[in-house]
Amino acid sequence: MKSENIAVLGVPFDGYSTYLRGAAKAPGKILESLHCDSSNLWTENGIDLGGRTDWETVGDVDIKDDKTAFSKIEDRVGSLLKDKSRVITLGGDHSITYPIVRAYAGAYPELNILHLDAHPDLYEELGGIRHSHACPFARIMENNLASKLVQAGIRTLNGHQKEQAERFKVEIIDMKNIESAMDLSFDGPVYLSIDLDCLDPAFAPGVSHHEPGGMSTRQVLTLIQTLDADLVGADIVEYNPDRDLNGVTGMVAAKLLKEILARMMENN
Ligand code: MN
Ligand code: MN
Repeated sequence: MKSENIAVLGVPFDGYSTYLRGAAKAPGKILESLHCDSSNLWTENGIDLGGRTDWETVGDVDIKDDKTAFSKIEDRVGSLLKDKSRVITLGGDHSITYPIVRAYAGAYPELNILHLDAHPDLYEELGGIRHSHACPFARIMENNLASKLVQAGIRTLNGHQKEQAERFKVEIIDMKNIESAMDLSFDGPVYLSIDLDCLDPAFAPGVSHHEPGGMSTRQVLTLIQTLDADLVGADIVEYNPDRDLNGVTGMVAAKLLKEILARMMENN
């Protein structure tokens, strides 16, 4: 029997970022923000995370180099899934979602993925790199690791990625139609991948790719809180502390972490 615990895992890796490094510094900063004395550990549905024993931080994946990073991430998540029911990963750049989902697909053969991002991350390759943070969902879909992929918040779809989305039957909810993402429902287990640049840069300036016209913090929270699904795992990626202003994006990431924990605990 699996326990009902939730593991919060750090992945300090930004080796496949195309534009700016910095996301490797994020996991520790997000946890610092979570425990900052300026706020508390209560969630909006009235759970005191400080008084709960069904979640824990389990440290960082020990990453030594780009070559072995993915196998280390997959192995660590895989071993956590053997002991725990759910893993929330703090990235890192978005490339890490591919090895994480490889581990999840082993545990959940009918996995759905809900992906929030300004970008579809469906490139066949970028700059000759197939593991780029612009490619994880192409790798996931071509390896049949998810039975369904829904992307929301997208506002940079180009011709190549539109073809990729059609090839992989990705359901895209464009940013301009984002209201229809506020009551999503899924049959079967769901993995939620949140690239912080799904948010408007006004709400989350601490990201490498500023893409105006994005979601508000409240819209992302509403999406998490109204999601009708069995949420089995999640990641929060692409926080770049080097680009942050007064730590505001770190607090946004910590807030999303709290509300994802709350949503998972409601399922228990
Ligand atoms: Mn993005
Ligand atoms: Mn992304």
